[in-house]
Amino acid sequence: MAGFPIFVDVSKVAPLIVGGGEVAAIKARLLLMRADQVVFATDQPCKSVTALVDEGRASIIGGRVGIDEIKGRPLVISALCDKVGDARVFEIARELGVPVNVPDQPEFCTFSLAAIVDRDPVTIAIGTEGAAPVLATRLRAMLEQQLHPRLGRMAEFAGKFRSLVAKALPSGAVRRSFWEFVFGGDIGRDILSGDEKSARAKFEKALNEQEKNYAGDGDALPAMGRVSLVGAGPGDPELLTLKAIRALKSADIILTDFLVGEGVFKHARREARIINVGKAPGRHTKTQAEINALILSFAREGLNVVRLKGGDPFVFGRGGEEVEMLRASGVSCEVVPGITAATAAAASLQIPLTHREFAKSVTFVSGHAAENGKPDFSHIDFSALARQRTTLVAYMAVATAGELAFELIRAGWSPAMPVMAVERASQSTERRVQSTLDVLSSDAARLQLKGPALLICGEVAGLASAGEVEIVAADVPLERVDFGDGTNA
Ligand code: SAH
Repeated sequence: MAGFPIFVDVSKVAPLIVGGGEVAAIKARLLLMRADQVVFATDQPCKSVTALVDEGRASIIGGRVGIDEIKGRPLVISALCDKVGDARVFEIARELGVPVNVPDQPEFCTFSLAAIVDRDPVTIAIGTEGAAPVLATRLRAMLEQQLHPRLGRMAEFAGKFRSLVAKALPSGAVRRSFWEFVFGGDIGRDILSGDEKSARAKFEKALNEQEKNYAGDGDALPAMGRVSLVGAGPGDPELLTLKAIRALKSADIILTDFLVGEGVFKHARREARIINVGKAPGRHTKTQAEINALILSFAREGLNVVRLKGGDPFVFGRGGEEVEMLRASGVSCEVVPGITAATAAAASLQIPLTHREFAKSVTFVSGHAAENGKPDFSHIDFSALARQRTTLVAYMAVATAGELAFELIRAGWSPAMPVMAVERASQSTERRVQSTLDVLSSDAARLQLKGPALLICGEVAGLASAGEVEIVAADVPLERVDFGDGTNA
């Protein structure tokens, strides 16, 4: 069966359940999540069925059903648990065009029952077309856990004000962004926490303000859209934050960097426009000024703009410049942090970036090369870092790994200091190479690194314990680790 999910109204005419045993009672309870009443066709009601009748939720008609009993029902479940009897009910219902289901007999079903997550009036139905009921149950458990128990109140609240909002605000982006504001902000939080009085007051005030903004102009867009600077994490979509997903879902425009993993975009609305403004090999790259101008012009069109960046927007992401520009232009902006490549790589290898014994601090540096192809490390005191026993994580250092290692050794870092290079951390193609500063400084090409990758330098880099690690060792064994301050480990 290729099942298309729909919701059937069971509130006006009671659904019919043929049979009076335990299975019939279980199915009845399910239907009674939405139906006021069910009708059992049975001559032998079991205790559970009689109990439902006593509760006033069910009535009983005779066991032998025909066209008259089935016609006009929103649906029929035949739970006689007798193949011949159930097949007969199935045939009559099918002839009449009434949806029919015989539990556990797919060949006698014109519809199947979904696993349900119930936040009345919000209903989530999960189906696997019978292929994996246990998977459906797992999904239901996951959703049960994630969805706030008062989610239904949110829908009820919105339902009450729907026509009022429709009158006050033009349809399209304006109305949608108002509802986003309601569900995603303070008002939504108040509803979920049970303070509907406060939610209502805030809602009325916000609607009033919005209405004044757009009065008289049905096509008007908000004077200024919203911009979210969102960290997309290191590539694995499961490392997105819930806030990032929420921002993606409400975006009209997504301006993305090249490093953002493909899987991340499945959270965007189908209508959202995705523009890649990142650096890709052999492609014209937009300058930061061009990117800034784009963000601003979309925001001024009243659109919800998500500026999506790999990792965290504020770690070597130029997020600071974008925030400054938006502030100067009077555009409100939200920043959603992301998991930066360093912590993703460390987690994947199961090496701690700080360690009570081996690493009292962690330092992120950029190995980005200037126009002349050389990295500029003049602002970093590598010898002070050696004394601090820091873990040094170098971003953008594939091309300059040799120079970095050379500078570190020159500043007193032990040539035998372990280095872990991690390419595409958190992605299915992740690659890890363990080596030493000495190898890097004398022949970095031996590691055959390809970006995006980062280098973790420090004793913790020797602690990798998870997954496969390639090892590129020195030709001649080196001394034990020396911290440059005369102490050895
Ligand atoms: N804002 C990003 C960093 C952008 S700079 C963050 O917080 O992660 C780009 C550099 O990040 C790359 O050159 C590489 O050094 C590093 N990087 C980004 N994603 C990575 C990944 N999945 N694996 C390893 N390094 C990565």
